[in-house]
Amino acid sequence: MKANSRRMLNNLISAGKKLAEKGVVVGPGGNLSIRAGETIFIKKSGACMEDGTAASYIEVELDSRKVVGGTGRPSCETPMHTACYKARPEIKCVMHTHGPYSIAYSMQKKPLKFFFPDHVTVIGTEVPVINFEYPSSEELAGRAKAALKKHNAFILQNHGLVTVGENVDEAYYRTLLVEMMIKTTFIAKAFGGIKLFKPGQVAEMDVSAEGAYRKEMVKKRR
Ligand SMILES: [Zn+2]
Repeated sequence: MKANSRRMLNNLISAGKKLAEKGVVVGPGGNLSIRAGETIFIKKSGACMEDGTAASYIEVELDSRKVVGGTGRPSCETPMHTACYKARPEIKCVMHTHGPYSIAYSMQKKPLKFFFPDHVTVIGTEVPVINFEYPSSEELAGRAKAALKKHNAFILQNHGLVTVGENVDEAYYRTLLVEMMIKTTFIAKAFGGIKLFKPGQVAEMDVSAEGAYRKEMVKKRR
């Protein structure tokens, strides 16, 4: 494994532990992967993120989905992960989690629109809810691929969340942000509701020097 992929894998393992601590995955649920050239490293089926090690990740060929490293079976969501990497060549990390706010919100099938500055600068796109498909199915992989053409994060109806990033941290922050914003939506209802940004405000934040700097800082991480 190249030094850069090794560093990314170590970062992925620690991100997985933090996601478990934050309660957005339980036991062997959810799956994470990184791209390493023509292969990906993806969580082993049945492995728990909370006690993840390098042995919890399996190397799989991107095109054939053939296992080329590690022992055990790769995550059953491997088709969805490979579809994400094929849809967008710049993507280096894919995270799929089961946060309670994302799952609860998904059932109303409403896209998460912009009302918070970090959503604009860190995610950069609205977050749609894609129609239910059975976990691990090719249909789910197809819907993921289509959603990624225009979005950096999407919610799976009655299932969870998928985020992508050009590095591990970008996908990780996007995961936490979506959960946080849905939690905020829920609390805001008690205070009278959400006030969305106007399209002009979103455009302004997206191109502002401060917004661009923050975006750059996240991209520079591993
Ligand atoms: Zn899942």
